[in-house]
Amino acid sequence: MSSRYELGDVILDKLSRTFQISPDDFAALKAALGRDYFKVLIATILSQNTNEKNTFKAIKKLEESIGIKPHLLASVDENYLEEAISPAGLQSTKSKAIKEAAKLIVERYDGDITNLLKKGEKRVREELGKIRGIGDKTIDVLLANYGYPIVAIDTHVRRVARRLGLTHAKTYMAIREDLEKVFRPEKRLTAHLLLILLGRNICKAKRPACLECPLKDICEYYNSLKAKH
Ligand code: SF4
Repeated sequence: MSSRYELGDVILDKLSRTFQISPDDFAALKAALGRDYFKVLIATILSQNTNEKNTFKAIKKLEESIGIKPHLLASVDENYLEEAISPAGLQSTKSKAIKEAAKLIVERYDGDITNLLKKGEKRVREELGKIRGIGDKTIDVLLANYGYPIVAIDTHVRRVARRLGLTHAKTYMAIREDLEKVFRPEKRLTAHLLLILLGRNICKAKRPACLECPLKDICEYYNSLKAKH
């Protein structure tokens, strides 16, 4: 176990020399730094299948037109909500998920998402997982930003982790478990953010820029390519 953690430490050390984590690059992190965990959830729903720039635009438009509070979103007209979040795309699905989540927090948690978050991962998964459009990744980003020791797996994290050889698992939870063997509990949010930065900037889906990558020495994908040539 400890040698896996040592590998994780090396990865994070190398990545943190290359990338700086800025809240301006992560809408959910920005909301979490303001301790607004309902906004973390909304930002994460909005970020599904779009980039961070569009997510920030949608958050701004939503804030200006309606506001990002459970009681405001629980009773909002759905067409109006769709229009407000349109910069993020998939507004029909996302507006329904946002409204359902807002209603849940108002009706069962006294309008305060921390009343749910304090009840533990299992309860959060059960409650939010019932809502269409809120999946494991969205729940884990919320939990991790609240302080649970979780590596949330988004599309960048999954791709980068597979290429590095940190996981060969197929399901969401199995990938998460593999990464949690590599990254210490207190470093898991940092790992999530740094792996995303690597995926966005260097280890891109189509053409990873391996020669620029700070992890190439320890990367399974790069080393297997090198071995073939
Ligand atoms: S060496 Fe290449 S494949 Fe490996 S993590 Fe870096 S960019 Fe991705």
